[in-house]
Amino acid sequence: MDTQPKTILKHRAHKIRISDPTEAQIEFFRKCVGTKRFVFNNGQRVWQDKYQAKEKTSANIIRNFFVGKKKEAGLEWLGDVPKSVIQGAAEDLGSAYLRFFKKVSCYPKQKHRKDSEQSAVVNNDPSTIRLNGKSAYIPKLGWIKLREECRYKDCKYISLVLTVKNNKWYLVVRAEIEVTEGGDNQPIRDGSCDFGLTSDLTIGNDTYCEKLVGPKPLRKGEKKLSKLQRQLAKKKYGSSGYCKKQYQVAKYHEKMANQRKDWQHKATSKIAGMFNRFYIENLNTKGMMKNHKLAKAISDVGWGELKRQLHYKLETIEIDRYFPSSQLCNCCDHKQKLKLSDRIWECGKCHTLHDRDENAQINILIEGRRVYDEIMEQGKAYGVYLFALSRMKEFMDKNTARTAGIYASGDEGNAPDKESGEKPCVGEAGTKLVVSVSGLGCEHAQLLTVFGVRSRNKRMADQNSSQQTSK
Ligand SMILES: [Zn+2]
Repeated sequence: MDTQPKTILKHRAHKIRISDPTEAQIEFFRKCVGTKRFVFNNGQRVWQDKYQAKEKTSANIIRNFFVGKKKEAGLEWLGDVPKSVIQGAAEDLGSAYLRFFKKVSCYPKQKHRKDSEQSAVVNNDPSTIRLNGKSAYIPKLGWIKLREECRYKDCKYISLVLTVKNNKWYLVVRAEIEVTEGGDNQPIRDGSCDFGLTSDLTIGNDTYCEKLVGPKPLRKGEKKLSKLQRQLAKKKYGSSGYCKKQYQVAKYHEKMANQRKDWQHKATSKIAGMFNRFYIENLNTKGMMKNHKLAKAISDVGWGELKRQLHYKLETIEIDRYFPSSQLCNCCDHKQKLKLSDRIWECGKCHTLHDRDENAQINILIEGRRVYDEIMEQGKAYGVYLFALSRMKEFMDKNTARTAGIYASGDEGNAPDKESGEKPCVGEAGTKLVVSVSGLGCEHAQLLTVFGVRSRNKRMADQNSSQQTSK
């Protein structure tokens, strides 16, 4: 492993509210998102037809199809917006299909005029992106004012994306910045966290422990929300009163989401500032959401988003989801059955008094270190780990991180890339380790998850021993 600090390029985005857009500007923005929607929805039909006719399809083919349509009578308006709108829509469609083929997402859905969030790429040519203080240049429109300056300066800008939510317009500036990553010389500060329901995050290491409690906006705003929704239900569907009320409900949802997002970013930034390696549980969030008693509390904290942020802010390693982190005593490894309501419990063997969340956090730390060491011990597995890392960076350089799914395992996710035809991994059949790098967006590019080491190894060991005995 390299011991020298390395400078690597990373993609970052800054979402800035557009300051008081004029009527004409809003009209133009609407045209942009409308064109994007048109290309995405109709492109999907084109894609389907081509797929059924067994013709080759890709984002580029879809783009060229619609660029050609610009000259057709009745579709000249496709040329009224920046050319990147069509390109961006085609790329979105392409990656949506790729995710579908890789079984990461379900089949691409049609976009609708009333979707709560809409977007369009208004410039994707780094050489022509111009930002000047609090203003940005949009091709075919001119300069627009922004509420704040972009926080990334003197760097390469990759694209400008226009988004709208609840009649508020935003410009997302995507930039490529240089980040220096320390080599082996940097001391490892590792920590772990336990996702809980009463104290939302219990973070810490051997000597330090802190409980972070989220704002829980849904629980606090439940009454007001249900009142608004009751009022909405009494309006005539589709009437102007209905639309107004619907807007109020949407705005209230947005407010709660913003409160949650603010806290999540503060919490994960704090973790990234304190630690450089972090162990978390690989929780089955989707499965737990099916439990009605837990669903509301989980979605109010936003476990999924927290995990996503942790993965791109620092090296995060997930441990086996069946590891009984809450039930083990961290002093004597005694396993004790606990109810969900047991917040403080006494170990039946060594009689230590434990706080449920703190105990779980320490157990995850111990288990996380063990899993990490195990990876390091297995030379081959470590090779896969490094390979995945290097591939990830390669993909980032190519600016295709959003579609890069790398799975290094013996049997799953080993399908060749739809577009390039290359196999995204080297894992031999029966490799002991499952390393997955799912780069579903450039912010995920750093995502490196190592999971399944424990249970998989066990299974492998069982198989080997049974084979030996049968011989
Ligand atoms: Zn004990």
